[in-house]
Amino acid sequence: MIWNRDVETAPRGALRELQTGRLRATVAWARARVPFYHDALAAAGVKDADVDLDRLAELPFTLKEHLREHYPFGLFAVPREEVARIHASSGTKGKPTVVGYTRNDLRVWREVMARALAAAGAEPGQLVQIAYGYGLFTGGLGFHDGAEHMGLTVVPVSSGNTLRQILLLRDFRPQGLACTPSFALHIGESLREQGGDPRAIGLRYGLFGAEPWTEAMRAQLEALWGCPAVDFYGLSEVIGPGVATECAEARDGLHLNEDHFLPEIVDPVSGAPQPPGREGELVLTSLTKEALPVIRYRTGDVTSLEPEPCRCGRTTVRMARIKGRTDDMLIIKGVNVYPSQLEAALLTVEDLAPHYQLLVDRRAAFPTLAVHVEPAERLVREWGGFEGTRPEIAALSARVADCLRGHLGLNPEIAIVAPKTIPRSEGKAVRVVERR
Ligand SMILES: [Zn+2]
Repeated sequence: MIWNRDVETAPRGALRELQTGRLRATVAWARARVPFYHDALAAAGVKDADVDLDRLAELPFTLKEHLREHYPFGLFAVPREEVARIHASSGTKGKPTVVGYTRNDLRVWREVMARALAAAGAEPGQLVQIAYGYGLFTGGLGFHDGAEHMGLTVVPVSSGNTLRQILLLRDFRPQGLACTPSFALHIGESLREQGGDPRAIGLRYGLFGAEPWTEAMRAQLEALWGCPAVDFYGLSEVIGPGVATECAEARDGLHLNEDHFLPEIVDPVSGAPQPPGREGELVLTSLTKEALPVIRYRTGDVTSLEPEPCRCGRTTVRMARIKGRTDDMLIIKGVNVYPSQLEAALLTVEDLAPHYQLLVDRRAAFPTLAVHVEPAERLVREWGGFEGTRPEIAALSARVADCLRGHLGLNPEIAIVAPKTIPRSEGKAVRVVERR
């Protein structure tokens, strides 16, 4: 179903008009209330009358560093008393990135999350199991509020605890499961090990995101669970999950909620705007946020935009599946590669388990890459156990090497490791390990 038909199927011209008015209001709001934006807009020489969709490139960028520099509440556009909720990202180095929502921001978030759930296939009255982390992370509560708003019965199990996830799935039989793709894989495999059949749960959709994944992983998840695996996108700096979601019908790009978030693609190095269809870094401007408006926020995520209407009937622009992070791109012996591309290639090799780890060693002058993969368990059973000297392992290793050379032009060191030695994920998978 389409949750908000008026907006999601609006003619492009009407949407553009709405965006223009909201963009002007957002810039004026940020300028008047946030000293950082007052100064940045003045330094860029932008007057309120200049603000226009065709002149977006004149507006200054907002970077993650700016949020850190103004920690915790320095970029808020309303007094702290008017902030209804705080979320924060874990922050890999030092302090977290703090974001805030007014009551109206929370209403918007619920609305876009209801659109996401509906696009994935949820219908009011159904049950959904939410296995994203609850707390400061936006995943759990973002889904929770949207699901309640659209009239679902919510099972707020939060992330982790695979055995409990399986127990509830088996006993409650939810129609929907929301978690990271790596965790969905782990839950499904564990259920199988218990002698269960993930398909027998009767899931009608899985909403999988919050980490980059691939079409090959989608095929694995859909085969495992027997339902569409739907991708979504969001980030706390902009709102959390709910920025964009695939429709279950096409699963061909993520419909971006353009009435609330204005997307652009720029060159990750120069920052220059890119023509439609070109790949680059996604930049988002919030169009309705009160507590923490963001102007041209550099997401660091690599994608492209497809403005053609979708066969599901939605007219909103679609963004391609995230290919990787601008700062995750590995340069191995002169070859540029994203971890997601390695994943896509690895998942085409039969006889491999769908778990892998990439070890990047930066201690030498030129970084080297080692790829750790496990043989499929079925294979190890046939062999009667895992023994590193088996000729089959050397043959499998050679096939992996051929595949990566053929697909990506890479010659990494390949290690076929014993089953279940690559860490399984109960949240976000750690696919890349760096040694410095
Ligand atoms: Zn669609």
